[in-house]
Amino acid sequence: MNEKDVIQNFISKQQHNSVAYGIGDDCAVVNPSPGHQLVVTTDSMVEGIHFVKQSPAYEIGYKLMATNISDIASMCALPKWATLNLTIKTYNKKWLKNFSNGLLDCANQHNIALVGGDTTLGDHLVMSLQLIGEIPIGDARLRENTVIGDAVFMTGKVGYASQALKHLIDNNYQHSSLTTSQISALYKPPSRVSIAIALRHLIHACVDISDGLLHELEIICERSATGAKLMLERIPIPQDAEILQVITAGDDYELLFTADAKHEQEISQIANAVGCEITLIGHIIGDNSVMLTLNDQRVDYPEISGYDHFASS
Ligand code: ADP
Ligand code: MG
Repeated sequence: MNEKDVIQNFISKQQHNSVAYGIGDDCAVVNPSPGHQLVVTTDSMVEGIHFVKQSPAYEIGYKLMATNISDIASMCALPKWATLNLTIKTYNKKWLKNFSNGLLDCANQHNIALVGGDTTLGDHLVMSLQLIGEIPIGDARLRENTVIGDAVFMTGKVGYASQALKHLIDNNYQHSSLTTSQISALYKPPSRVSIAIALRHLIHACVDISDGLLHELEIICERSATGAKLMLERIPIPQDAEILQVITAGDDYELLFTADAKHEQEISQIANAVGCEITLIGHIIGDNSVMLTLNDQRVDYPEISGYDHFASS
């Protein structure tokens, strides 16, 4: 077995009119659309850190693509081309087949072309995906674009991924004990590309909340030299969840964005048309810090606002 076998057996070629040359040469050649800028992101997943070793291969592949898509969505851009760097411990045909099926199923749902990558053997299972998207020139929605008076909105619900992870830990990482919706929450976050693009003309700043809702809101405020008031009772969470735990937990791939409060109705009309739940959860204010309230009562700020890989180093 060599690298060529892995690629030929598991990474099928896709036809794509934006790809002049895909897998098979030293580099891929792609055709960007006129009048557009490229947005580029990459994310890695390491066994034992981003997923447990019992995680099913299909779901790992799907999630690797979906988490990168979430970063492109948070620029309000359209994902188009991906490259995959894969370090595997052994040549396990079944694992590779399932992994690439998950990755390519998610890619195909978004018309994303896998145009290249690199494959090596190593001591740890590590996978990195690079995703390149497009956006009309000047339209990328940066974190610093928030202004005082904006309202803060979020897509979907938050807290289901951390709840599913807790269930998995409590059940000795038995994936068979998870419900379909828990599997989805952990490994198949819904795509927010359509809603981000549909709302782009109204959005000022946009992030995904993968490292924790509160943490991401802090970053928006820091970058734009503003503060925020977050209304905890408005945030859609699972029934038996604890709100402070939910807003500081990671791994939910919803978007948090700011827009002029006067567009609230238009935003909810567009959200209905796209079929995505959107909730107004706060306001941008001028005092450089994030304030938490529950039914208008001030709530103490938690010690840790989100997930940081280097927090204990
Ligand atoms: P090179 O020696 O030029 O790096 P490789 O032998 O590593 O080429 O790869 C051959 C072709 O297969 C290249 O087009 C490369 O992009 C592609 N490729 C290698 N590994 C992967 C992978 N994991 N996913 C997608 N494409 C891959
Ligand atoms: Mg190579």
